[in-house]
Amino acid sequence: MNSELDLLDLDRKYLWHPYTQMKDFEKDNLLFVDRGEGIFLFDSLGRRYYDTISSWWCILHGHNHPMIKSAIMAQLDRLEHVHFAGTTHEGAIRLAERLVDLTPDGLDRVFYSDNGSTACEVAIKMSFQYWRHMGETARKGFISLERGYHGDTVGAMSLGGVKAFNSPFDTLTFDSYRIPSPYCYRCPYKAEPTVESPNRQGAGLLDCSLACLGPLDELLADKGHEIAGIILEPLLQAAGGMIVYPVKYLKRLAELVSNYGIHLILDEVATGFGRTGRMFALEHAGISPDFLCLSKGLTAGYIPMAATITTDEVYNAFYADYREGRTFFHGHTFTGNPLASAAALASLEVFEQENVLNGLQDKISVFQSGIKGFRKLPFVGDVRGIGMVAAFELVMDRKTGTMFPPEKRVGQMIYKDGLKKGLILRPLNDIVYLFLPLSVTVDQIEDILDRSFEVISGLSL
Ligand SMILES: *Cc1c(COP(=O)(O)O)cnc(C)c1O
Repeated sequence: MNSELDLLDLDRKYLWHPYTQMKDFEKDNLLFVDRGEGIFLFDSLGRRYYDTISSWWCILHGHNHPMIKSAIMAQLDRLEHVHFAGTTHEGAIRLAERLVDLTPDGLDRVFYSDNGSTACEVAIKMSFQYWRHMGETARKGFISLERGYHGDTVGAMSLGGVKAFNSPFDTLTFDSYRIPSPYCYRCPYKAEPTVESPNRQGAGLLDCSLACLGPLDELLADKGHEIAGIILEPLLQAAGGMIVYPVKYLKRLAELVSNYGIHLILDEVATGFGRTGRMFALEHAGISPDFLCLSKGLTAGYIPMAATITTDEVYNAFYADYREGRTFFHGHTFTGNPLASAAALASLEVFEQENVLNGLQDKISVFQSGIKGFRKLPFVGDVRGIGMVAAFELVMDRKTGTMFPPEKRVGQMIYKDGLKKGLILRPLNDIVYLFLPLSVTVDQIEDILDRSFEVISGLSL
C-alpha cells in the first residue's frame, strides 16, 4: 500500500483541485483526510480537526451519522441508480412530498438535479421559458446582486456578482441587471465612522432606510416589464463574503418585485436546512418565492443532489400536448438519484428524531453572543452572524475599513494557523468564517470560538 506521502505525491502528479492555486501546494501538503466522525475530520496520524466549515457548507448532522449511513446502505441493496425520464422510484417520490410539505405554500413542484449550480440554472431556464409560453417575450432580463453567488456554470455565473470569480469570463457570460449588495459593513449610503462607532459596523443599521434598494426601485420603474426574474441568496450572501443582511431588506425586495410580476428566485443552496436557525432562511421574512433552489444540505452532505421547487403556475405553463412544444428540455444524468434520495429522506428523519431545529436555538445564542468578543481584536473590522454562521472581516485599518493587499495572503495564513489549532478554517479572502454543522454541541462551540480567537489574535501582520 502507498504511504500517505506517496499518495500526496500522486495527488501532485494527477490532480487539479477546485478553487486552488496548485502552486501553493508545491511544497506544502494538502490536508490528507482519512476519516470523519461527528463534526471532526481526522488525518492518517489520527490528528483531529473541527470541520468548522461543514465540508463546504453541506454537512448538517456530522460525518458518519448512523441513520444516514444505514439508509444509504439499505438503498444500495435495492437500487443504486436509474435514469429519471420515463421511470420513477419510491425515494424520489417520498422526498418530493416531504419537500413540498416543508416549504411555504405555493411551492408545489420539485425538479431534481445534482448540484447547487444546476439548481439555479434550472430556475433561470424555467423562468425564461415560462415567459415565452405566456407570450410575454419581452421578459428576458434577470436581476442579480453584487456579491451574489449561484454557482460556477456559465448561466449561474452570469448572475453571480463575485468579481474575483467572474473576471476571467467577462465576455463569456450573458448580461444581467446588477443591484448593490446589502453589505452593511461597507454601506456606501451610511454616515462616516464616528468616534462613538469607529468600527462603522452597526452605525448604519439603526437608521437604515434601505437606501441600497433605491437602484432596484429605479430599475423596476424603467424596465420592470422586461424582467423575467431576480435571483438572490436570502439573508446571507455566502460566497460573496458571508454578508448577513437585514430581514427587512428581503421583505421589501420581495414586495417590490412582486409589484411587477417578476419571478422571485431564492437560492437557499447554502442557507437551507437549518443553517440560519429556521429550516429555510425565507421563513425569517415570511415570504414565498416562485423558485426555491436547494442543494448542499439537502442530503446532509452525504451524496450530491439538488432540487428546484416551483409553483403550479409555472408548472402548468409547461403542461400541454407534446406538439405544442412546451416541454422543459433539461435534465442531468444523476437527476433524482435513489441513493441521494435515501440520504435526503434520512436527513429529514434526523431533523425530526433528534429535534434538531429546537435544539439549535440554545446553540445559536451561545454562538452569536460568543462572537461579539472578537470585536476587540486588532484586525477585526466587522463581526457578523446568523444562525450557525459567523464571519470576522479582517482589515488593515479598522477606522477606514481598508483591506489588506491580496498579496499578503492573510486568509492563507489563517488557514495554516487554523490547522495547527485543530480547526479547518478556509477564509474567503480576508473574511474568516465559521459555518458550523447543526450537530455541534455548546461545549464544542465554545472550544471552536476559543481556538479561532487564538488564531486571529496570534496573527503577526
Ligand atoms: C455553493 C453554492 C452554489 C453552487 O453549488 P455547487 O453545488 O457548488 O454547484 C449555488 N448557490 C449558493 C448560494 C451556494 O452557496
